[in-house]
Amino acid sequence: MAELSVRSVLVTGANRGLGLGFVQHFLRMPKPPQWIFATCRDPKGQRELQNLASKHSNLLQCVGSAEVANPGSIKAAAAKVREHLGHSGLNLLINNAGMVKSKMLDAETLEDMTETYNTNTAGPLLMGQAFLPLLKKAAQESPDSGLSCSKAAIINISSIAGSISSFFGWEMIQATSYRCSKAALNMLSKCQSLAYKEHGILCVALHPGWVQTDLGAAPPTTVDDSVQGMLKVLSTLSEKETGAFLDWEGNVIPW
Ligand code: NDP
Repeated sequence: MAELSVRSVLVTGANRGLGLGFVQHFLRMPKPPQWIFATCRDPKGQRELQNLASKHSNLLQCVGSAEVANPGSIKAAAAKVREHLGHSGLNLLINNAGMVKSKMLDAETLEDMTETYNTNTAGPLLMGQAFLPLLKKAAQESPDSGLSCSKAAIINISSIAGSISSFFGWEMIQATSYRCSKAALNMLSKCQSLAYKEHGILCVALHPGWVQTDLGAAPPTTVDDSVQGMLKVLSTLSEKETGAFLDWEGNVIPW
């Protein structure tokens, strides 16, 4: 199987959890990307990212311009990335940042629904729009005719909790606002795949497993295993999979 090889990648929510895991794994690759853009919104909570950036000149933090549901800060992040990339495009956009309100259905509020939807669904929409010119450029630069993550791709980190037919973990956690936001993210991924295919950009929704981060409660999978699995899956994707909903082991998840 071909190793995932990208010249440039952007990961949102990169200061902790899976986002930080992605950054660490990209840095450890035999042929690491020339540019790793790591966005995070909290300058205080990102010591590990700062530490990594001080050791790796290909890792760039976009701090303070990385609120994923804020069009102004997204535009600022896109301008900063464009400046660094010069004439080349961005190969891989990983929309990882996400939030959950672990409430019972009856306790959910308008604010919960709105904040969760803005972060988990509208954020990836706006990120995809803002970085589209750079993704298109990467696709145009590539000699490959098909679709792949090494060429140009949007990866939306979704959740099996958003699968209407599997309804994973309902007895354990209802989190309706989260489930709705991820079901909508799955639809967004499908729409992006249809709209961006002609530009040579692959789009998928990817469930990372149930992972030991601040977001997952007491899950079985480590960040390392999840990220390693997801990167392996990304390396295998082609036009056949664009628009799919997959998990970290490459299994298709029912909508
Ligand atoms: P964490 O809670 O560990 O990290 C979440 C990240 O998202 C943090 O960097 C956080 O930043 C960032 N974030 C949250 N809201 C915003 C926002 N409005 N703007 C910018 N950044 C934001 O979670 P995970 O690493 O576990 O989650 C990563 C992704 O994986 C999420 O999309 C989640 O839904 C998904 N997922 C996780 C599962 C698990 O078991 N862990 C299972 C299924 C899906 P800050 O530090 O500033 O809060």
